[in-house]
Amino acid sequence: MVTCAGCSCLCTDIVVKDKVFNACRRGASIFRNAENNKAKPKVDGKEVDFDTALNKAIELISNSKNLAVYGLDTVPLEAQELAIKLAEKKEAFIDDNSSFCLGDFVEMILKKEIPTTTLDEVKKNAYVIFYWGTDPYNSLSRHLSLYTYYPRAGKRQRGYEEDRFLVVVDVRKSHTAKLAKKNARFIQVNNDLELIDGFISALDGKAGNYFKDVSRIISEMKRADFNVIFGGLGLKYGLNSDYSRFLEMVNKMNEISNVYFLPAGFHANMRGFNELMFEKTGFVNRYSFREGKASKDFEFKNLILNDEIDTALIIGTDPLNSLPFEVARKLSKIKKIVIDPKNTFTARTADVVLPSAITGYDQGGTMVRSDGVRIEVEPLKEGDVSDISILKRILEGI
Ligand code: SF4
Repeated sequence: MVTCAGCSCLCTDIVVKDKVFNACRRGASIFRNAENNKAKPKVDGKEVDFDTALNKAIELISNSKNLAVYGLDTVPLEAQELAIKLAEKKEAFIDDNSSFCLGDFVEMILKKEIPTTTLDEVKKNAYVIFYWGTDPYNSLSRHLSLYTYYPRAGKRQRGYEEDRFLVVVDVRKSHTAKLAKKNARFIQVNNDLELIDGFISALDGKAGNYFKDVSRIISEMKRADFNVIFGGLGLKYGLNSDYSRFLEMVNKMNEISNVYFLPAGFHANMRGFNELMFEKTGFVNRYSFREGKASKDFEFKNLILNDEIDTALIIGTDPLNSLPFEVARKLSKIKKIVIDPKNTFTARTADVVLPSAITGYDQGGTMVRSDGVRIEVEPLKEGDVSDISILKRILEGI
């Protein structure tokens, strides 16, 4: 069995023979399409041998006055460590997708500002399960079946029919919300804070927003000693970076029962990057090794918009495809070195492309699941160039 690094579930039970077994559609397509659209070593758009591309990458990084290292959420911890060392050596900026994704939630967990748990404990114990601002049916396809609503395990042998209570909070009726039928509630919100206020009022014994739904959920929470809230991007953006009322609500909920929090829905090893950065710097992302601090200004997209960098080392991500047009337009004007297994949109416009391996397919290493559990990933086959070997050689060369 191999591990799929398609999302932060990091499923360890994937079987690849003539077909792919156990994976969701996204996971299966990673293994099925591993040999398609592969990146080739390139300098200025022309195919070259690998060492020529590597030497050009070393030259560009060495000559850079203001380097940013960006991406890293799909590569193992061992490669992330080397990238952080490289950023430190060059006094560069370093950032990953978590700065516009769920990094704030991981930071609250690492700072112990919110009680948390593991997915294995959720599977054995959780009764009320919130999915707040996230649609795991599409973004973490096996989350519900492996760990939350459907498993029969531990104290929850009667499964979702009687032993779990699902709460879906979203601005629209997502696919996950459509599952909320028996033992479930779907709450459609316009503003997350209104629902948070509703919970706080009800927990204070007062009638407030969404009273009917909120009072039913609170009485369900009291029936169990283990409830969990999975927060996604909808919650993060709904709170607009001010988490104080949300934390107050979780603390109040913990006065009536045990309520834990886990982030839901991000790249395979985003939490790994956040943990390494936190251990080294006390911050999870958006860091400048020259300034010795983190700042919103050091977020990759802001660095580009403010013309702060001359060169970007982009590892395992495709910002030209994912960042807003205005950022992408400016990014196309600076030097770019792309390390990626695939011929992405960004790779097609890069000054240097270094093809790397796919974690779980032709490179192994350590990844950190969304709940902080470390997973040793064994590759299906050994590839020629791993992210670890590329970054090691760059680090030695600069
Ligand atoms: S849920 Fe995520 S880790 Fe599991 S098979 Fe699907 S993409 Fe891969």
